[in-house]
Amino acid sequence: MLTYKELIELREKLASGEISLELAKAQYWKDFKEGQRSWHTKDWKERRCEFIKCKCEICSSNETLTLQHLSHPKKFSEHLTEVTKIYAKDYIDSNPEIDKSELRNYILKNYDYFPAPLCPNCQSRKPNKRIRKVPQYFCTECRHEFDETITKSLDELISTFYKNEEAIEVLDKCFVSNDGWKNKHNLSSIRYWLQRQRTKNQDAEAIEKKAFLLYLNDNIKYLSFEDTITACKKCASTFDLYNMELCPKCKAYYKGVQYPTCVQCLPEDKRKTALEKTELGKQMHELHKGLGID
Ligand SMILES: [Zn+2]
Ligand SMILES: [Zn+2]
Ligand SMILES: [Zn+2]
Repeated sequence: MLTYKELIELREKLASGEISLELAKAQYWKDFKEGQRSWHTKDWKERRCEFIKCKCEICSSNETLTLQHLSHPKKFSEHLTEVTKIYAKDYIDSNPEIDKSELRNYILKNYDYFPAPLCPNCQSRKPNKRIRKVPQYFCTECRHEFDETITKSLDELISTFYKNEEAIEVLDKCFVSNDGWKNKHNLSSIRYWLQRQRTKNQDAEAIEKKAFLLYLNDNIKYLSFEDTITACKKCASTFDLYNMELCPKCKAYYKGVQYPTCVQCLPEDKRKTALEKTELGKQMHELHKGLGID
């Protein structure tokens, strides 16, 4: 795993174009073991010592201090999805139209069509199916009775879509993707995925590079300890540390986002209650540990 410094160098080289995306990825993933955490590396342990403070940033106690991260880096695949979405939006804004036959071919290749049953007389949707009566179907719209429903062909449905995107039958999620995910889509979402696919084909390299740079930024920020808080064991187990922010009053201690100030800045009586609660939290924690349910 690369050290903090090496990671920053890698980011600079990639951003400036000094090295290719392929090479940057190869260097990054080289001795990256799946599931390995930065806190197992020597570099991380050494740097951690420089950042841990001498007292808890929530209650100022100095008992068993730990350094807690307030945020965690996202996975590369998550960045990739986000960047692809942004590129797709730009692409769609400048290329809103899709040729009818291209949409049709894309559907034939990627989806199975399950047409909705319609009344043969008025084409209303979902005629009532009766269990005991003959003929089997009854249309509540035109009161027609019949034995068999009709359906719209794919071409008819696509034509309707090009005339009116808000038409009810067009909104039906009557297409199931044949890629194993079995996603149910309607025509407008299929068009989106087609356009997104085109964006990916067109800008694959740029999308990956942007996502990889964001991913490196995330990891550099994590390793910089910028977003960390020193907490005592009590506070670490009592407070939800992911929802902490700097107290606006003293700007020295941390507070839960749901509280107006930190424990230190509360009025005397409230501070006592808060500290008692922290103490109670600790006792509960120890009790659970003793009972083996922690
Ligand atoms: Zn504390
Ligand atoms: Zn009817
Ligand atoms: Zn404060």
